[in-house]
Amino acid sequence: MISRYAGISPKGDLILLGRLGEKLKGKSFLHVNSTKEGGGVAEILHRMVPIMADLGVDVRWETIEGDEFFFDITKRIHNALQGNQETITKSMWQHHFEVNRKNAETMTLDADMVLIHDPQPAPLIKFKKSGRWVWRCHIDVSNPVKEISTPLFRYCGKFDAAVFSVARFAKAIGIDEFIIPPAIDPLSEKNIELPDHEVRDILHQFNIPSDRPIILQVSRFDRFKDPIGVIEAFRIVRKYNDCILVLVGSPATDDPEGELVLQEVREHAASDEDIHVLLLPPFSDLHINAFQRAATVVLQKSLKEGFGLTVSEAMWKGKPVIGGAVGGIPLQIIHSVTGFLVHTVEGAAFRIRQLLNNPEMAKRMGEQGREHVRKHFLITRQVRDYLSLWYAIENGLNGQRGFFI
Ligand code: UDP
Repeated sequence: MISRYAGISPKGDLILLGRLGEKLKGKSFLHVNSTKEGGGVAEILHRMVPIMADLGVDVRWETIEGDEFFFDITKRIHNALQGNQETITKSMWQHHFEVNRKNAETMTLDADMVLIHDPQPAPLIKFKKSGRWVWRCHIDVSNPVKEISTPLFRYCGKFDAAVFSVARFAKAIGIDEFIIPPAIDPLSEKNIELPDHEVRDILHQFNIPSDRPIILQVSRFDRFKDPIGVIEAFRIVRKYNDCILVLVGSPATDDPEGELVLQEVREHAASDEDIHVLLLPPFSDLHINAFQRAATVVLQKSLKEGFGLTVSEAMWKGKPVIGGAVGGIPLQIIHSVTGFLVHTVEGAAFRIRQLLNNPEMAKRMGEQGREHVRKHFLITRQVRDYLSLWYAIENGLNGQRGFFI
């Protein structure tokens, strides 16, 4: 399986991966998160787990189960970590813990290395029996609400180490901290090459014209992704340039707010025939791939963003990307080289027009973007980093801020 990445991923990553695989063969690695469908974490795990298995690691992926109240609480925690004022009462924290306790009763938590993704399963640390436990934070914690991050970080501080996507997110929680940005799989259905006719067929299925420039944003319907801002930017652009807007999203089982935000977006788009708001079922990877390939300009106008896999996905397809200058997006978008970083609706509109009016520039940025992703944001680099981290921890090396790309 790893050999399939030869000629795509940087050779040095593949060599190191092979060596680490030899060292860690037969040892057990457990990932725990809160959903198999929707959002970046599930996307990453679906691709990363088989690669680790192929390297000889005894890898498992478990998902905690919770009721509606639990996911309401954890979405509030998520929103507060990204800076929104939220209230989590004592009984809510208790419920968060209780759901984890119940999950711990039925899960096999024994492994040489346990990677707990995000706050939902963080209290599982209380049920650790053996192995090394690492908390993996995928959220933009650049400016969290302290009343909520402090109690959460009390759990996180009990882990052996923490991993963040961006150096600026690292927090003083008293344990080793490592920086590992996420990555995309060039061989997944979402990212493989597609022939033009297949792209056109898929557009046709969704009644999207293929003869007009397409502005695209692919995201869960979440206010931090600023879908309303995208519509407003599009409306400015359309006064001057012919184009259509496609907003694509799908539900995530651990995100109860999606439906409400989708409704807001639909209302805002009103009956504008040039705005296509599509709710796709989970695992519509080929469709997403086709939309990204069909786009003239891709947006990820987030207001907060842990990393934003959609940025690398579009760059890998040779698209210029306009992204909010937040969280993990500036790691991917080198301003004026692989795309543009923006702070406002007007800024986004200005950059969209610049790209629509300069196809040569758009093409050049797309090419540079693809190479940037090839070097830094392919899944082989990510697995390399996780295995290196594991090896480092097992061998008693201190992390501090261990891995920078
Ligand atoms: N995604 C998808 N269908 C959708 C919307 C998003 O498959 O309708 C995927 C998207 O392609 C990306 C992931 O979900 O791979 C979202 O990851 P990202 O890091 O961009 O954001 P998150 O949802 O984790 O905040």
